Amino acid sequence: MATPLMGQMMTSPLTISSLITHAARHAGATEIVTKRVEGDLHRYTWRDAEQRSRQMAQALLKLGCQPGERIATLAWNTHRHLETYYAVAGSQMVIHTINPRLFPEQIAWIANDAQDSVLFFDATFLPLVEKLAPSLPSVRHFVLMTDRAHMPAETSLKGLLCFEELMAAEDGRYAWPEFDENSAACLCYTSGTTGNPKGAVYSHRSSVLHSMAAALPDAMGCSARDVVLPVVPMFHVNAWGIPYTAALVGFKLVMPGPHLDGKSLYELFEGEKVTFSAGVPTVWLGLLNYVKANGLKFSTFKRTVIGGSACPPAMMKALKEDYGIEVIHAWGMTEMSPLGTLSKLNARQAALPADEQQHLLEKQGKVIWGVDMAIVGDDGRELPWDGQSAGNLLVRGHWVIDRYYNHPESPLASVDGKPGWFPTGDVGTIDQDGFLQITDRSKDVIKSGGEWISSIELENIAMAHPDVFEAAVIALPHPKWDERPLLVVVKKPGVELTREQMLGFFEGRIARWQIPDDVAFVAEIPHTATGKMQKLKLREQFKDHKLPGI
Ligand code: AMP
Repeated sequence: MATPLMGQMMTSPLTISSLITHAARHAGATEIVTKRVEGDLHRYTWRDAEQRSRQMAQALLKLGCQPGERIATLAWNTHRHLETYYAVAGSQMVIHTINPRLFPEQIAWIANDAQDSVLFFDATFLPLVEKLAPSLPSVRHFVLMTDRAHMPAETSLKGLLCFEELMAAEDGRYAWPEFDENSAACLCYTSGTTGNPKGAVYSHRSSVLHSMAAALPDAMGCSARDVVLPVVPMFHVNAWGIPYTAALVGFKLVMPGPHLDGKSLYELFEGEKVTFSAGVPTVWLGLLNYVKANGLKFSTFKRTVIGGSACPPAMMKALKEDYGIEVIHAWGMTEMSPLGTLSKLNARQAALPADEQQHLLEKQGKVIWGVDMAIVGDDGRELPWDGQSAGNLLVRGHWVIDRYYNHPESPLASVDGKPGWFPTGDVGTIDQDGFLQITDRSKDVIKSGGEWISSIELENIAMAHPDVFEAAVIALPHPKWDERPLLVVVKKPGVELTREQMLGFFEGRIARWQIPDDVAFVAEIPHTATGKMQKLKLREQFKDHKLPGI
């Protein structure tokens, strides 16, 4: 057999440090601005960020950290967190971002599962870390991400280290090492709404490929002319990879720190001329409320990615029509780094009538190169892409996990008998154009008389009612139909809205049999640590609710 001719191109491992090295050399003067935990604005450049990342890598080595060690963070979106990302992964350690909004016991459980050896944290979380420390036996060093002036006078944390002192002790004369691109770079845990959270370990290769794909015009599509403010936290799937894409593209990055209220965000958007953002739907509820209540407009903000939960079409409409902001609806998950699909139109679709365009844009969108998806019935057979057949969604690709950290058994399943697909736990349809529409988490689907009702579709209709602030739909058991939908609504402040008016709003918008059986008005809908509605809790809360006619 003839020997195949090999390509004759240079090869070097796809490492995360290569991203920030590129930014320092080729976007060196571009700014990174942080509204710090200390309250002031901090401003420096990609060149400074890379220098300080090398210094922090030196500091970690001096603390005795070894390749492969898990270095944890409990931190907001700030320049120091960014430096920690690059210092840790760049020196072949593993950056483990922990969500501080989890219950303390969950944080301890996760840190122990990961066997974290160092914990970097923001001053906000000092009381939390002091409380947790006795249950974190693997953590050898605690690093407070601040300067000497802001260190606490007293703390129960023995040998607490100061981030800026560690930094100041190093000269940055450190060359980023080259190593196998399949080495672990980041560790993110799923939110664990059922059972314990599970770790997803991303490699350097998968992270770099994900960043390149995220930067594509039909993905996030940010350029070096953009100013990007990720509202999505760096502790939720690496802020959807933005800290890496930012270096790869070389755009200006604006970090809001802990200041996530409507007023602070609005001032940062305007002050720094932000053009692009990303966040879960609940974030925009807060910001839009503030902007509306104060009669404000955005002067530079033009596009935002919304994902993590279904973006209600009413929110998309308000952003577009009232503020001129284009929404890019995205779907993904921790297990896929997280980007899977984004909603953008091709030339033919962009020439469709406005309502047809809108209908497509409201869906979760098309996959980007690097991932593939399929929907299957309960028998594992692939379903047609007709926009109607709803099935279990599976994915595979360069940045999809093939196993969970510390779990030897494979989570993968088959499509048409071919193995190697990750079951997402989501249910959806795919249309002829390849647009995915998520109809539900499989456990949230309402199974009524042998048919499925999409809770997301009902929520989207309720959210279009002008008096509704937030809406969730859950299944309640029903003696005749198995399950029927209950609509749980938070009204906007000061409005009158009755059960009959709310249910009447569904008439003509959806098939009669899919209209919820009842409405419960509540002051608040519970959310998870990543901003998703906690339907498990709602089902618990309403388990004794009597639907009419039973
Ligand atoms: P997480 O791993 O915390 O990012 O959660 C991933 C899950 O969030 C997915 O499996 C979906 O159930 C849900 N999700 C993410 N984006 C969307 C979206 N655009 N629409 C509906 N559900 C979404």
